[in-house]
Amino acid sequence: GFDDDGNYYFNSYAHNEIHQSMLKDRVRTESYRDFIYENKDIFKGKTVLDVGCGTGILSMFAARSGAARIFSVDNSGIIEKAREIVAENGLSDVITLIRGRVEEITLPVAKVDIIISEWMGYFLLYEAMLDSVLVARDRFLAPGGILAPSQTRVLLAAIDDEDFKNDQYNFWDDVYGFKMSPMKRSTLSEAVVDFVKPGSIVTDIVTVKDLPLQIITKKQLDFSTPFKLVVNKKGTIHAFVGWFDTWFTRDGHAIPLKQGDEAKEGETFFTTGPAAFDTHWKQTVFVLEKGLDVEEGTALQGTFNCRKGFDNPRELDIEIRYVVEAPGEDVTETAGKKMVV
Ligand code: SAH
Repeated sequence: GFDDDGNYYFNSYAHNEIHQSMLKDRVRTESYRDFIYENKDIFKGKTVLDVGCGTGILSMFAARSGAARIFSVDNSGIIEKAREIVAENGLSDVITLIRGRVEEITLPVAKVDIIISEWMGYFLLYEAMLDSVLVARDRFLAPGGILAPSQTRVLLAAIDDEDFKNDQYNFWDDVYGFKMSPMKRSTLSEAVVDFVKPGSIVTDIVTVKDLPLQIITKKQLDFSTPFKLVVNKKGTIHAFVGWFDTWFTRDGHAIPLKQGDEAKEGETFFTTGPAAFDTHWKQTVFVLEKGLDVEEGTALQGTFNCRKGFDNPRELDIEIRYVVEAPGEDVTETAGKKMVV
């Protein structure tokens, strides 16, 4: 829980497995690497802060890209290994490791030129580590400094996939001959983190949150966004699905986004969406109790509500309220959905 002063959270980053799975996520790690290595001119001679350095990988990329000084902060025991790793690679003169919360540590410099951090959680905001990065930004980033990544967004669509629902929901009807309805119920109140097949998306894809990281505030991370998903194929909607996109830009500033935008020239981009390479974030699925029979042109219209958990602010409370509007008909159904990721 959250009353343990965050120790539970930081202990979860103390061991090998979680770091191995992050490092082996090539989409994730190579995006950071490519941005840092392909933009050596902006790293050369600069002071960098790595928020949540873990094994130190991003700091070492920055060192190899010519950064003059790197402060690598982590409050987890993993940092003791990072200290050895940095020494082992001959980088102790460039990289300074600092154990503590980035909210509380002091740096030997007033400001840094660049902040790098891999803070993204399931459905982007699960874990609430972005809050810490925003504190680091406000405490330490020089005016005009660069945040890497610089922009993220959260997307939403709906899927027609009976197999997915059977596998996740109806599974609990008969587990080795036993019913497990409490487990079945929680599939409706807890989001499922899993891969969805790209072909199962039968609506358009909408952005429910844009996060220009240079300027966004902690308060704006709780949000409520109207949405409209139009169905492009007759069938049955079994679930909503969400994921996120991430940009690294050279000036570190927010870029205006259009639907379907990906990387522009000179930017590094990755998506955790179902149509791209798998990442350890998978997708986040909100299973519906009753499938919605839809026609081409039916609209699911409503509000997507996302806020930090009341009991545990590292969790998310998600509520999707919507009406189903069939073409040429009045509203046929209203429903709400409340979730803990
Ligand atoms: N940068 C590494 C690790 C990313 S995981 C990599 O890319 O592989 C995120 C790390 O941030 C974890 O090790 C966690 O302990 C650390 N972290 C999260 N919140 C923090 C905070 N407020 N202060 C310091 N470290 C933090």
